[in-house]
Amino acid sequence: MQTSSKHAMDSALSRRQFLGASMGAALLFAMGGGISCSTKAGSVHMLASLPYAESGLEPVISSKTIGLHHGQHHKGYVEKLNKLTSGTKLAGLPLEQIISTTAGQPDRQAIFNNAAQAWNHDFYWRSLKPKGGGAPPAALKQRIEASFGSVEGCKKELAAAANDQFGSGWAWLVQDGERLKVMRTGNADLPLTQGLRPLLTIDVWEHAYYLDYQNRRADYVQAVLDKLLNWEFAAKNLLSAA
Ligand code: MN
Repeated sequence: MQTSSKHAMDSALSRRQFLGASMGAALLFAMGGGISCSTKAGSVHMLASLPYAESGLEPVISSKTIGLHHGQHHKGYVEKLNKLTSGTKLAGLPLEQIISTTAGQPDRQAIFNNAAQAWNHDFYWRSLKPKGGGAPPAALKQRIEASFGSVEGCKKELAAAANDQFGSGWAWLVQDGERLKVMRTGNADLPLTQGLRPLLTIDVWEHAYYLDYQNRRADYVQAVLDKLLNWEFAAKNLLSAA
């Protein structure tokens, strides 16, 4: 929060309450057709399978990186979330609802972080695909050109956001009403807490690229942009009626 004035706090609170009510549906839609990818058994979240083989993104991202990233890091967030919510009112709620309920609350930061990271990773895996990159579908391409001038311009902004994020975080293509925008978030944070609709994301935590690229984040980001981006996934997330 930029200011501590009473008015600003009231606004932030009502905004949060609004987001809490509306975010679940928006997030579910953003995952593509309302299908939440984090499966549940009873009141426990389960790690969803990758939408491709661990080796499917080679040579841009190695199967070793994907195996650790999905099988250890992503899995770790899901397991920690289950542990933190076990026996509480949050147990068994969809990720989207846990995120909207805990966002901006310092005493529930750990739950928010793990729920958001579980959601972010589900979204990241779908933002990439084997033999991705290339040209976006026509409807999305038009929106990109209206907002960034060109697909190349959009990719340049995504690269800058990914490379300029200090420390761990995410670069996002988001929809804000009529406009598309590029933004970055730190650690577990995600655009939906700001009322923005994610279209695709790039994970810039070191665990996403360190084994393959060491400290050369820019090389990882450029290779992802050119060879792995799943523009069809972004197009599906686009709300055409906005
Ligand atoms: Mn990650």
